Amino acid sequence: MSSNKAKKSKGLFKSKSRGGEDPLEEVFKRALQKPRIFKNREVMRSDYIPNRLPHRDEHIKRLGEILAPALSLSKPSNVFIYGKTGTGKTAVVKYVFKRFLEIIEKENLPLALAFVNCRISGTEYRVLAELCESIGIKVPFTGLSKAEVFSRLRRGLKEKGLLLVACFDEIDALVKSYGDNLLYELSRMNEGMDDCGLTIIGTSNDLHFKDYLDPRVLSSLSEEELVFHPYTAIELIDILTERARLAFKDGVVPQNVINLCAALAAAEHGDARRAIDLLRVAAEVAERNGDEVVKEKHVKLAQNIIERGRIFEAISTLPLHSKLVLISLLLLTRGGISDPISGMVYQTYREVCGQIGVDPLTDRRVSSLLSELDMLGVIKSDLVNMGRHGRTRRIFLLTPPSEVEEAISGDDLLSSLLTYKPSVTRR
Ligand code: ADP
Ligand code: MG
Repeated sequence: MSSNKAKKSKGLFKSKSRGGEDPLEEVFKRALQKPRIFKNREVMRSDYIPNRLPHRDEHIKRLGEILAPALSLSKPSNVFIYGKTGTGKTAVVKYVFKRFLEIIEKENLPLALAFVNCRISGTEYRVLAELCESIGIKVPFTGLSKAEVFSRLRRGLKEKGLLLVACFDEIDALVKSYGDNLLYELSRMNEGMDDCGLTIIGTSNDLHFKDYLDPRVLSSLSEEELVFHPYTAIELIDILTERARLAFKDGVVPQNVINLCAALAAAEHGDARRAIDLLRVAAEVAERNGDEVVKEKHVKLAQNIIERGRIFEAISTLPLHSKLVLISLLLLTRGGISDPISGMVYQTYREVCGQIGVDPLTDRRVSSLLSELDMLGVIKSDLVNMGRHGRTRRIFLLTPPSEVEEAISGDDLLSSLLTYKPSVTRR
């Protein structure tokens, strides 16, 4: 055994010393080269807040006006901000906060600002704890009751005579998991507090978020409302041009590349994050290729890379039964049935559930899972007329099978299903 091992490793050494290609040589050479594309990579990161936000002056001014009473120490109205992802909600609030903070420090005002991302903070407890920390009250990571943290916050504001303006970014994430109880409590917290208290700014990417709120909470949260519309292609060009000027060396990103990124992002839903990501990934592709200029072909490649990442993310975070439905469709497709009717998908889904000992959901539930997958753009379903058999749906996989497999392969239980042959494909 051991001699075998020795032989093996000797063999390894030999083959290396015999030379051939050093796989790292090229990597090192490129990494040590002077940067030719990027001037400042940070600028293209998604959490970078630029000093100028083209096409959001109105929103910045409006939010500033709403919050301005805080500077003379009277409590501003609560604000509800909504708009689709990448329309600049987070950037605008952070920008306004940054500018207010400068004044607060200069004038030494008893005013505190808190920015909490509810999706990242995750729980009501963490959100409350972050509010406490923003006014200098330490709260253990866990261990206290929510009510205790809440009353520490209230007491802290009162004792310190502070006005706290708190942004609950992506507030819908919190409410969808926990309901609107915390918001209700917070909105009532100001009762009995005169010169101090809490103002809430909530942002949501979900335009239907209001439906989740109790009317009392809604009317309190949306004393003021700001709507962020998607950017047009022309607006995205301005945003990208400004970013590109800071991020890239002169002449590296030509206008046609910026225009293409803007057009692609606008065609989707006017998402500035998408536009910036496209340009960043395109530049990275160009850099890796050793090219000196970013070209349209790099943008096309970037689009594929981002799309794959997105599908991967969408599929790998699906709930179990949606994954099982998707696997059923994948198995049928691979077995030569690329547009099965929904009954076949359901039959296969039941078989697949049986294989791993999971109770199948009803036909109707599976039908609504299929609709969700359709909305995600992973599959497509068409209603077809079957003559006297009535109407049914034909289901197609829109995602290449290899990508579905890749996204599923991280899960041992599910990837064991990939070799299963559905009964209809065996006939
Ligand atoms: P939202 O919070 O609405 O999803 P963000 O504020 O996170 O959107 O914006 C997404 C990305 O686009 C961020 O990198 C942000 O800096 C950038 N961005 C959005 N609007 C603008 C703008 N008007 N000018 C410059 N950059 C912007
Ligand atoms: Mg945001």
